[in-house]
Amino acid sequence: MRGGGGLLDSLPAAGLPGAAIYDLAAELFPLNRSLTGDGVRQTLQLLQTVAPLEIKEVPSGTPVLDWHVPPEWNVREAHITDVSGRRVVDLADHTLHVVGYSGPVDRTMTLAELRPHLHTLPDRPDLIPYRTSYYRETWGFCLTQRQLEAMPDTSYRVVIDSTLNPAGSLTYGELFIPGESDDEVLLSTHVCHPSLANDNCSGMALLAWLGRQIAGQKMRLSYRILLIPGTIGSIAWLALNRDRIGRIKHGLVISNVGDGGGPTYKRSRRGTAPIDRAASLVLQGSEGAPRLIDFSPYGYDERQYCSPGFDLAVGSFQRSRWGEYAAYHTSADNLELIRPEHLERSLRLVAGMLDIIDADVVWQSTMPYGEPQLGRRGLYDDEHGRPLPEAVRMALLWVLNLADGRHGLIDMAERSGLPFAAIKAAVERLRVAGLLVPAPPRQSASILPSP
Ligand code: ZN
Repeated sequence: MRGGGGLLDSLPAAGLPGAAIYDLAAELFPLNRSLTGDGVRQTLQLLQTVAPLEIKEVPSGTPVLDWHVPPEWNVREAHITDVSGRRVVDLADHTLHVVGYSGPVDRTMTLAELRPHLHTLPDRPDLIPYRTSYYRETWGFCLTQRQLEAMPDTSYRVVIDSTLNPAGSLTYGELFIPGESDDEVLLSTHVCHPSLANDNCSGMALLAWLGRQIAGQKMRLSYRILLIPGTIGSIAWLALNRDRIGRIKHGLVISNVGDGGGPTYKRSRRGTAPIDRAASLVLQGSEGAPRLIDFSPYGYDERQYCSPGFDLAVGSFQRSRWGEYAAYHTSADNLELIRPEHLERSLRLVAGMLDIIDADVVWQSTMPYGEPQLGRRGLYDDEHGRPLPEAVRMALLWVLNLADGRHGLIDMAERSGLPFAAIKAAVERLRVAGLLVPAPPRQSASILPSP
């Protein structure tokens, strides 16, 4: 079912993609993910039911850039039991209850001894915080302030049945979808957070769904989708794929795409890459409170892709920006925070950006000396002989004028102020009429800085 109309046109009827992505996010939600371990494997296996991902393993201890792949962490149970035998905190109730990468414990201790290992949010007493300690070995529990206040000052049996296996591995998912060109678009999201819906069941579900959609389309560019644990996953992928990195011409880190905020686009380090400009074209005039923010070396995996040695043209798309919504990294980031309609809108915005970079080709007019006579070619009227709307005629004139072998469609849309779709439609009409041919390669699209 490969067609040529672009990703947006290929999406099922309104309502269906959002519902499907939401249902997938809801299935992902309860799995106990971390940087490594069986929760990540189960997550990727579930995503394989949607998109044909390859699941890859990198052995613990592998040196990757300035880092090492950590031991593989798995936790079977974790609980705190009071003297009456009642479990006052239990991992079985919520995956946030144990600090990620906690080492094993099996001890009886006083509340005073236990207290430094308990994490709460005193100002939001009904929420469980999300805490990890990946690179410093410790152990701990996260609970609500109300649970803590209900714990009498007696002794407790504390059990964390976990393993940190130096002979384990880091697991990630990868899907490569070849296009007509070897130039690649990198789409990346993190798979390392446990039961947090927006951060990032939303991103994983959306990206798997988008991958399936791209695989069913005829695209000009090649697409590479990575579902990786944050930071160490992108560092490991970059370290192990250095020979392919030159092919990555555009990219997007996707996360936190299910809430109603934003949309937010954070530019790549380059700032004016085609993906940055495509995001700007899509978000300008978008509903809600769209925000375009400049690169900063903090956030998710764009930090690694945009490190100076790689300097890839990778931006980041979110709804509310991470850290700026009240539920962020707490148990309030649950399946009520994300909504099918927000997921669907995020999908359509990202698909719109990808359609733009995929169509951003440089054309050359076959009649650059004077304006070609459009009326004679039937390009000024519709099939009933009625004059085409002014905006359609203007798009034809702008495309003809900028089809000088140096301007791509993004340049044309920006300079004309016309919608990208109008420019794309005009290119197609002029191409069919024999007035445009592709420019010789490597004068390539809007990748070159403007003169
Ligand atoms: Zn996060």
